[in-house]
Amino acid sequence: MDGLRVGFPDGEAVRGVSFDMAAGEVFALVGESGAGKSLTARTLLGMVPRAARLHGRVLLDGGPVTPADLGRRLAWIPQDAMSALSPVHRVEDQLAFAVRSVSGARRREALAVARRALGEVGLGPEAAGAVPHALSGGMRQRAVIAMALVNGPALVVADEPTTALDPARQEQVLTLLRERCAATGAALLLVSHDLAAVRRHADRVAVTYAGRIVELGAADAVLDRPVAPYTRGLLASLPHAGIPRRTRLPVLAGAPPAPGASGAGCSFAPRCPHAAELCRREEPALRVVDGRAVACHHPAGEVA
Ligand code: SF4
Repeated sequence: MDGLRVGFPDGEAVRGVSFDMAAGEVFALVGESGAGKSLTARTLLGMVPRAARLHGRVLLDGGPVTPADLGRRLAWIPQDAMSALSPVHRVEDQLAFAVRSVSGARRREALAVARRALGEVGLGPEAAGAVPHALSGGMRQRAVIAMALVNGPALVVADEPTTALDPARQEQVLTLLRERCAATGAALLLVSHDLAAVRRHADRVAVTYAGRIVELGAADAVLDRPVAPYTRGLLASLPHAGIPRRTRLPVLAGAPPAPGASGAGCSFAPRCPHAAELCRREEPALRVVDGRAVACHHPAGEVA
């Protein structure tokens, strides 16, 4: 993804987002609601609102992505499994249909591929032959993972894929998703607000704010030793292990600007404890600080 901008009549919601991903890599997009992370992911899949104006390039294996890639080279795992599954057809038939629509395989062959894919995510014959409503939420999300991977995509985009599940199931499903992508060589773009889960599962992470990437690097560097004031504020506001009970956590005061509402300078300046005159005048470009890319005039850890 190179220089992606997504504009609407009231302003730009994604502003110059660039990143690349390697085969088998888990790359996470994190940030508050409205930061542009879901829109970035959906744009990558060609799922953008009609009113959107797009600039920039999305390349897969060096060539442009086309609408025909969805379901073949690109796969999508939504928040709600039922939005990816038909409620009235058996799970294995839905996967077999997806296989046939890409490969033209005979029904019996496609069904065998579907059953194998479902077995690989822990769904046996009984679950494979059921309609989605007969399955638990965790089993449905496993079925969606199997559906996403059944045609061997190069890239899987998962948008808050476990939000509808309880915490124990969330971890199981994320682990399964990461392991299946690693086994097939698919890159995984994970959109999430769950920074602890991202820390456990992602190789690299991009923190987004007001439609831009403000910090991008290895997940352990960014989440254990953040340098952008926004990333530091976001992490400080989360509960973490070892914190005494009843401790009042610092709050990231204020809210992100609406699309198009950012003026000159850094979009985070109204909320940033380190904002200075330069911050209000000039939007910071991404540059390398302490082994990661950071958009900030005064990142922590930088030698003055
Ligand atoms: S550029 Fe300035 S206002 Fe923006 S995050 Fe950095 S220190 Fe804060």
